[in-house]
Amino acid sequence: MDRPITRRDFLNGAAMAIGVAVIPQGAIPVAAQDVKTPHPGSNPPISTGLRGSHPGSFEIAHSLRDGTFWKTAGKQIDTGEVYDLIVVGGGISGLSAAYFFRERFGPKARILILENHDDFGGHARRNEFHLGGKLQLLNGGTMLIDSPTPYSKEAAGLITKLGIDPVAFEKKYPIHDLYSSLGLGSGVFFDQQTFGVDRLVTGAPSEWMESENANAKSTQWSEFLKKSPLSDLVRQDILRIETDATDYLPGLTSGEKKDRLSRISYKDFLLKIARVDPGVIAFFQTRTNGEWGVGIDAEPALDCWALGLPGFQGMNLDPGAAPRMSYSAAGYSTGGSPRFHFPDGNASIARLLVRELIPYAVPGHFAEDVVTAQVAYDRLDHSANPVRIRLNSTVVRAQNVSSAKAEQEVAVTYAANGKVYSARAKGCVLACWNMTIPYLCPDLPEKQKEALHYLVKVPLVYTSVGLRNWTAFQKLGVHSIQAPRAYWNSVRLNWPIDIGDYKSPRLPEEPILLHMSRTPCKPGLPAREQHKAGRMELLITSFETFERTIRDQLARSLSAGGFDPARDIEAITVNRWPHGYGYEYNPLFDPQWPEGEAPHLIGRKPFGRITIANSDSGATAYTDVAIDQSFRAVAELS
Ligand SMILES: Cc1cc2nc3c(=O)[nH]c(=O)nc-3n(C[C@H](O)[C@H](O)[C@H](O)COP(=O)(O)OP(=O)(O)OC[C@H]3O[C@@H](n4cnc5c(N)ncnc54)[C@H](O)[C@@H]3O)c2cc1C
Repeated sequence: MDRPITRRDFLNGAAMAIGVAVIPQGAIPVAAQDVKTPHPGSNPPISTGLRGSHPGSFEIAHSLRDGTFWKTAGKQIDTGEVYDLIVVGGGISGLSAAYFFRERFGPKARILILENHDDFGGHARRNEFHLGGKLQLLNGGTMLIDSPTPYSKEAAGLITKLGIDPVAFEKKYPIHDLYSSLGLGSGVFFDQQTFGVDRLVTGAPSEWMESENANAKSTQWSEFLKKSPLSDLVRQDILRIETDATDYLPGLTSGEKKDRLSRISYKDFLLKIARVDPGVIAFFQTRTNGEWGVGIDAEPALDCWALGLPGFQGMNLDPGAAPRMSYSAAGYSTGGSPRFHFPDGNASIARLLVRELIPYAVPGHFAEDVVTAQVAYDRLDHSANPVRIRLNSTVVRAQNVSSAKAEQEVAVTYAANGKVYSARAKGCVLACWNMTIPYLCPDLPEKQKEALHYLVKVPLVYTSVGLRNWTAFQKLGVHSIQAPRAYWNSVRLNWPIDIGDYKSPRLPEEPILLHMSRTPCKPGLPAREQHKAGRMELLITSFETFERTIRDQLARSLSAGGFDPARDIEAITVNRWPHGYGYEYNPLFDPQWPEGEAPHLIGRKPFGRITIANSDSGATAYTDVAIDQSFRAVAELS
């Protein structure tokens, strides 16, 4: 807790069968209990139940994909609205496109942002709870400012203009050492289905311990493994992988080793090169899920080295990136960006952008006060504003047309409230998801459409659970639990951070939020196929099922500390992201394309007055990339 946190830490903790098909229409259950909105529309972040891609947000896009939308769409209503810019997608990329457009063309530029969800921010979503009368926040998606590479001039410039200085904030508003001061550490939950018995083992050692602590690390691992339900052979091999200094590829240079490691999965490295007992795999299988949405069967050993996974201590690999590495692994192995976690994650960045675009919708003046600011959602789409954000509006067509003045314009059609509307603009930035673009622009060249379909977004679920108190965690001595093979791989108490008027809980008797994450995938398939399988699983899982798994897993792992799900769980928000992280090329499955031929580069080419932003067009999943892509897309319109 006393060192800078990264998204890897957030996801992996300090320690550590479904077919692939297009989902048939009508297969997605939308039960009444899936949506629990106390005051619909008034303040979407307080809604509980199924959030993220919530029921009501994606059905139109799916009917467009299935070719049924236009058969039932009524007559188009021409709103008569004409803008300088229409942005499709109200995520960080769409909001920053509007910001950059105003910088270029002045504050009077008229901009319409269309977003299919009931909240803005895209993945940068805020979960807001009022537990025991006190505001508590968690990120429903994007966790923190943290990227494998330093923010570009444009991205860093933007967040500076929003009043965010990650380096200064990290010092001024650090993650409090509350949990370590109470003696709480990390634990591992071994589930009965995989390991033969349900057991929470506390005192999980940190893989990040410095090498001079090698002896201490070895002792900690031995102590930890002794308490686990693993066989002696498996314990020995985990201890070896975690702590000893064997060079598993002797006689090769660092470059040769790196090349070899880039061509095999970490699972194969463990089994075939480090020759561990097969029983070891279950312990490591999901270590990479949080970063890439697939397990160690589908991630190159070299990328796992860069991520800090064990087994490479004695291999004398030169620090730094190598030719065949994923974007994240290459970046993180050379450093990374400054980091900062707002209590609602990067939703604070989205809210600050909206404050810039529509000042009277988001009160306050500083980055700190946006955390507790109450957004006036009814002011987002007002004719008096040069910038308007129209929520619950799914764009179904963006088409280059000629205006009466023979200028090129874009006609944008969108569906909202069961009706179909159209508006026009001098330019349009598609800051939505790559795979939707061929349906919005069917006239795109076939090669570009194919490229846009190539990238398969990574499905994942972030759940926020409101707890009455956290005394069970205190009694058991844990603040975070990795569950390598259980339904939820990561469970952890909210990050204690105070900023502005926002104060996080300090006493175990106080209510708190719990973050739980799941990355559905299907080990054994190529990465993109695993993502498709995971997406299908997410879309057919009801809130009731998510809720049951949460209650079940928390009861099984925490009951020894007196946890009772019926008594102790107060609220649940499941942020379901079937189309989550932007796809990052995986050296095990994706070719090394010739210069300029990678799908994201072909896919993002401008098309008349339509340009393409969003993190997919940067082929990776980071906030700075979403900002960079919007800067490029706006420049292409100039
Ligand atoms: C769970 C999760 C955690 C993450 N954590 C981090 C992190 O810690 N740090 C980090 O830097 N990055 C993180 N990322 C990645 C980061 O969130 C994204 O790279 C970035 O927010 C993407 O922004 P975007 O605007 O390109 O896309 P999005 O946020 O996806 O926004 C695009 C918006 O367009 C909307 N849209 C799509 N189609 C249409 C349509 N037809 N009509 C209208 N609207 C449409 C979508 O619904 C969406 O709201 C995370 C991502 C996820 C999913």
